[in-house]
Amino acid sequence: MSDEGAPRSWPEETPPPIDRAPGDGVAVRPEFALARPTTDAARDQREAHRGGLCAVHPDEAAAFTCDRCGSFGCGACRFGGMPAPGVERAAFCVACAREGLDEPIPWERRGELGHWRAFVETTRLASMHPTRFFRTPTLEKGAMGGLLYGVAANCVGQFGLFVVLGVSLMLGGAVAGAAVDPLLGTLLAGYGCFLVGLTPLFVVQAPIQAVFGILVATAGSHGTLALGGRTSARFEDTLRAMGYATAPHVWVWLPACGVPLTYVWMLAVEYQAIRGTHRVSGDAAAVAILGYRAVLLLGVLAIYAAFFLLVVLYAPTPAGLHAPGTP
Ligand SMILES: [Zn+2]
Ligand SMILES: [Zn+2]
Repeated sequence: MSDEGAPRSWPEETPPPIDRAPGDGVAVRPEFALARPTTDAARDQREAHRGGLCAVHPDEAAAFTCDRCGSFGCGACRFGGMPAPGVERAAFCVACAREGLDEPIPWERRGELGHWRAFVETTRLASMHPTRFFRTPTLEKGAMGGLLYGVAANCVGQFGLFVVLGVSLMLGGAVAGAAVDPLLGTLLAGYGCFLVGLTPLFVVQAPIQAVFGILVATAGSHGTLALGGRTSARFEDTLRAMGYATAPHVWVWLPACGVPLTYVWMLAVEYQAIRGTHRVSGDAAAVAILGYRAVLLLGVLAIYAAFFLLVVLYAPTPAGLHAPGTP
């Protein structure tokens, strides 16, 4: 063969992955777009780089095939670096990851960073830099990691709220007891102790409530996008994103402003989560996160209205309310 030994970026029998070098990030081969290979054919595609060369560094042997654009890359071109031997995780080239964070999501590296540090860093990045956070390719398969993070963030916030409420009642009781009325003081302090005493019940209930909340948010927003034919990621991708979007909830215990602050903050983070995950316009993302909430609110109002109507129509008229002159 005349061209033997000539450098090439892919083996001869394999078609070029894509007609560009990694870095322009425009075209995406549909079979790679946001999908994790599960079939043998897809696995073969993932291994397509074997024997090839890095598309950016033609002197380096290719070490992976990008899951998103299909380019071959060397170890230095892999987002998050090459995983330790035996660790399987998604492979993205740094070009495909450039809109996101500089490093993979800390929670996805909790094994290496430690759970606490990974949790704190993820909370900070998802709350403060949601646009880049939700454009970061995920290295973890499935939605369990994101869901687990969401449950943890929810529980931390709820636990803080619980403690702050209990302590304020006890302190309020002490002050009221000393300054106003001993009975009021005892009552408030008693409520405080009662709340703190409920902690075991709370520990069981908080994760269930968190999972339920994240599932409702996922079903509502993903379902709305699906109705409009705007989904470009799977349900589990939305679920993972909604788990991470729980991040601001860790501040719900802040006295006075905690609840409204975290609610608005979470809406803003969810908005970026939907935009980043499904690559939709701002309008579509706003409809996806607010539409189902409006429907749920209207549903609740309708139930109240129907209940009120039934009471007005069928409640027996109290004896003392007869109009004057009627028997
Ligand atoms: Zn890529
Ligand atoms: Zn390279």
